[in-house]
Amino acid sequence: MSAARAGAGPLAGRRALVTGAGKGIGRDTVGRLIADGAAVVALSRQAEDLGSLAEECGCETIAVDLENLEAAAEAVARVLPIDLLVNNAGITALHSVLETTMTSFSRVLKVNTMAPLRLAQVVAGDLIRRGRPGAIVNVSSISASMGVENHAAYCASKGGMDALTRVLAVELGPHGIRANTVNPVVTMTPMGRAAWADPGKAARMLGRIPLGRFCEPMNVSGVIAFLLGDDAAMINGVSIDVDGGLRVG
Ligand code: NDP
Repeated sequence: MSAARAGAGPLAGRRALVTGAGKGIGRDTVGRLIADGAAVVALSRQAEDLGSLAEECGCETIAVDLENLEAAAEAVARVLPIDLLVNNAGITALHSVLETTMTSFSRVLKVNTMAPLRLAQVVAGDLIRRGRPGAIVNVSSISASMGVENHAAYCASKGGMDALTRVLAVELGPHGIRANTVNPVVTMTPMGRAAWADPGKAARMLGRIPLGRFCEPMNVSGVIAFLLGDDAAMINGVSIDVDGGLRVG
């Protein structure tokens, strides 16, 4: 992870909020955005993760569970103003369709789809009140547009996130606020390793990726940084696959 260098870089002068910042893609994104000049507020569940992250790169932190939508919204309201929102936190529940319970389905939807909407309301509402532009990146997945075995809740939640993002783009665009998703294939994080631990399952997926490897967190955080910045000033409402060519292979 890069050291903080506030004041220089393409995101200088912007204040970003990254959810799910304790581990994996979110943690890497915090380092990337700080290296690009942003001031970052890192939101996650575990105070220990946030403590070590703050020590590494000098970000502000919020410890809150996004499942508690109103507690999360209130915590984010306390750290406004935010110019750039990265809804990255996500969970999965690996069950077949027949074994998926309504409790686990609704928990996945709450964290992966509803919390991004709730935080977008808080951040975009404030930007609109202040007449300021902004950008939102929702971290979705290739699962948004594929049927992946044992991922019913996850696929539904990410498909919902892509659809939600298109509506954010349409409604917030007139206020100068862009919204896009980044859709990675399997990425080597704690979540990715757990979900793809079965070597046979991993080999079958790898065999479908023309580049022949899974993503590293930096492959995703770089696209997030691009979408947040002014180089992407006319990109709004799109989903960018970061999948090594899976879709066309
Ligand atoms: P990890 O599980 O490795 O890290 C997720 C981080 O988010 C953890 O710090 C976790 O905290 C935090 N988090 C999870 N739930 C909550 C919550 N309810 N409230 C607050 N913080 C929470 O995930 P990844 O980095 O792999 O995934 C990041 C995003 O990328 C997710 O949206 C995921 O769906 C998406 N993605 C991941 C892929 C992969 O293969 N890894 C592929 C495609 C998309 P804690 O440690 O407490 O769990």
